[in-house]
Amino acid sequence: MAKIVVMAGDGIGPEIMAEGVKVLHAAAHKYGLSLDFTEALVGGAAYDATGHPLPPETLALAESTDAIYLGAVGGPKYDAIPDPNLRPERGALLPLRQKLELYANLRPCVLYPSLASACPLRSDLVEGGFDILVVRELTGGLYFGLPKAWEGDRAVDTCVYTKSEITRIARVGFEAAEKRGRRLLSVDKANVLETSRLWRETVTALASDYPNVELSHQLVDATAMDLVRRPQSFDTIVTENLFGDILSDEAAQLTGSLGMLPSASLGAKKTEYGTSGLYEPSHGSAPDIAGTGKANPLATILSGALLLRYSLGAEAAAAGIEAAVARILESGYRTSDILEDAPNFVHVNCRQMGDLIAGAVMNGADPRD
Ligand code: NAD
Repeated sequence: MAKIVVMAGDGIGPEIMAEGVKVLHAAAHKYGLSLDFTEALVGGAAYDATGHPLPPETLALAESTDAIYLGAVGGPKYDAIPDPNLRPERGALLPLRQKLELYANLRPCVLYPSLASACPLRSDLVEGGFDILVVRELTGGLYFGLPKAWEGDRAVDTCVYTKSEITRIARVGFEAAEKRGRRLLSVDKANVLETSRLWRETVTALASDYPNVELSHQLVDATAMDLVRRPQSFDTIVTENLFGDILSDEAAQLTGSLGMLPSASLGAKKTEYGTSGLYEPSHGSAPDIAGTGKANPLATILSGALLLRYSLGAEAAAAGIEAAVARILESGYRTSDILEDAPNFVHVNCRQMGDLIAGAVMNGADPRD
């Protein structure tokens, strides 16, 4: 039986996770999977209950499971915790990524054709949608480099990358590109940063191992511009931690809403079924809409599909969930964040969207038929 640890977290976390787990149950039923769910405290909720955003019991569960399914952490209430290491993101997410060595963050940014009008770009630039995969290095670079300090009027962060760190994330990028459009864009700032010069040299040296993949390089500022100028030209992007954080949020906005963007963070550890990983929506805990039913659960539900694909090797079930999402969107169902003023759209809340997707996974049919 595949083990999944569920960490709902804060803000809209519990609401979106309830729908994510509901859809995984539906997929398990439909595709004959045996899933064992265990709940664990994380983030502000864990801090309130235990005094730490990543209690030892949660970490122990995380280290022994096949996959972690996480909502979101943080909120204004926790910004004032005096010790920054006890704040939810720094005290829970960063250590989880480091301790589980989750070095590869995969963020599919898909604009569904039926959501093309929710994209803020001119319609002729996105007609028919697009499908971009951002592969972001997650355990190195500016977020973790030492020294890191703030003293009086001076603060320091340090960007460090080693050749082996670049090699392992570049291989994830090449392998992902091989399974998609066979084009890999490596993004750096090699005209200014030493770490980027090492990055570019290392990625270039690996290209001969992947003769089917066409490798190109681009500076991060140019990529930021091209994402809004010609998003359909991208296939797979591989980049370092900070650039990937920013570019994937930019690409996310083009998909209509942050509420549409799933993510997978893969580590080195193999499970019986695939690669151990952490799956979460790319957005935060959205405290401004928590408890209102306005949260879009699709990023979380699609993260569940990635969990099935990468950690459990259940490709049919993953594809079943993705197809169900596409069908429900085509049928016109919309949460507030992707709703437009059009007669054929049906406004639904978070729970209703979860019910619709779970139903579509189970019966494989448009619920309005
Ligand atoms: P956010 O992603 O939570 O919200 C940004 C905006 O997008 C808000 O207007 C929000 O209402 C909207 N939004 C986000 N997710 C949505 C969804 N599923 N459906 C509909 N609308 C959605 O970012 P923020 O406001 O900068 O951060 C809020 C808190 O979340 C902060 O405490 C921050 O530290 C934390 N955070 C956590 C994570 C994480 O857990 N991985 C990531 C980013 C931010």
